[in-house]
Amino acid sequence: MEKKLVRKQKRQGCTCDKCKECCKREPGWFMPDEIATAAAFFSLTEPEFINKYCNEHLEDNTYALSPAQKVGTTECIFFNKKGECDIHPVKPHECRKVFGCEGITRHRKMRDIIKRRWRR
Ligand code: SF4
Ligand code: SF4
Repeated sequence: MEKKLVRKQKRQGCTCDKCKECCKREPGWFMPDEIATAAAFFSLTEPEFINKYCNEHLEDNTYALSPAQKVGTTECIFFNKKGECDIHPVKPHECRKVFGCEGITRHRKMRDIIKRRWRR
């Protein structure tokens, strides 16, 4: 898709299937300071939110959190039946910054940025 058009659509909140593929394949990762906000969205404490809704990752000696996956699938626990994100206002940084139509390099770069923040 032409870059200018994609940028315009992103501002307007575009919704094609490529973005939804990410939600079905692998939930995006949170930044560390987003956990408290996401927990508050459900009126939960951070440990309660992590226990109920998160996957813990250990990658490159870095601990990080993402939304959990539905049991027996790779799909994000917050991806609802209408194909929408149940935590859209507080969704992970990676979900807000990486789009399905962008190349793998951008996905990798963003994951590296997030890992650096968790290592601090
Ligand atoms: S894949 Fe790209 S064009 Fe499609 S919804 Fe996501 S950002 Fe928009
Ligand atoms: S948090 Fe929302 S945008 Fe991110 S993977 Fe889950 S359903 Fe998709």
